[in-house]
Amino acid sequence: MVITIQIISEKVDIFQTVKQIPFPDVQQAFNGQQTYRSKIICPFHNERSPSFHVYEDSYYCFGCSEHGDSITFVAKLEDLKPLEAARLIAVRFNLPVDRIPTAEEQRRFNEQQRNRNISQYCINMLLIFLFFT
Ligand SMILES: [Zn+2]
Repeated sequence: MVITIQIISEKVDIFQTVKQIPFPDVQQAFNGQQTYRSKIICPFHNERSPSFHVYEDSYYCFGCSEHGDSITFVAKLEDLKPLEAARLIAVRFNLPVDRIPTAEEQRRFNEQQRNRNISQYCINMLLIFLFFT
């Protein structure tokens, strides 16, 4: 998949960048389910027949009413803040993220990382180390 990104200024808005990825691709990358007739089994509640509708830029579950876009999907799935989720998506799709986090974002991010369980912590830190340093 090739994504063309218009870099308007030096500060690329990571949210805008990530939203250029079609939601089905994000779902596939993070949840791994094959979409069948635009539906999958909802990852947020227990069900046998799929009621989670996958759209090009969003999702809606008719079973539990969960809805949103790629960022809310990954945030909920991975228990992350929206900015962290956006960064994780950008990393997974090799998008250029040249926006340096503010000191406050970095501080909060570090704080949350510390509170997270150790395996998740290691994975995230490794990703950050690999892609953001
Ligand atoms: Zn659901």
